[in-house]
Amino acid sequence: MKKLMIDMDDVICGGGFLKLVNDFLGTNYKEEDIHTYYIQDLIPKEKMSDWAKFFAQKNIYDYTQVLPNAYNVLEELNKKYELYITTAYIFRDDKEKSSELLKNKFDYLIKNFPFIQPEQYIFTSNKEIVECQIKIDDKPSNLDGDAELKLLFTAYHNRNIPDEELKKNNLVRVNNWNEIQKILL
Ligand SMILES: [Mg+2]
Repeated sequence: MKKLMIDMDDVICGGGFLKLVNDFLGTNYKEEDIHTYYIQDLIPKEKMSDWAKFFAQKNIYDYTQVLPNAYNVLEELNKKYELYITTAYIFRDDKEKSSELLKNKFDYLIKNFPFIQPEQYIFTSNKEIVECQIKIDDKPSNLDGDAELKLLFTAYHNRNIPDEELKKNNLVRVNNWNEIQKILL
């Protein structure tokens, strides 16, 4: 079986972070309004410490949805590949509060993907050290390393990367789970 690394946020589930930022700011930003990887860059600098406190009291995964068809395709992939859900858990704005985020991620995975065992979770910051033949992530730098197939899952922050640049970096764009299904199953 080939080893398959799959990211969590903005690949198998999403929406929670933007919802919390909007709740905090009293705004109605959409994904189209975000131009960097870190959604919280929408927050003015002087509000960042209040934001960190606000975030620490919330569970982002109370507001997060599983992306369409992710459940079914993951269930099938789990039979055909040695699958690892690989996710970063450091909260950039207050690193010492990251343990709560890690717990919330763990609980969300257990609850929503009961066919994936906790032994298949990898909580890390550096995905390059994870040796898998196939990797799926929405952040291009998380696909660094020598995987044989690197699938870049389309997200707000990577949608404008031109095809030539993807090709140069050996990245194959996938826009949804139906496309992953076609390539890997
Ligand atoms: Mg991600």
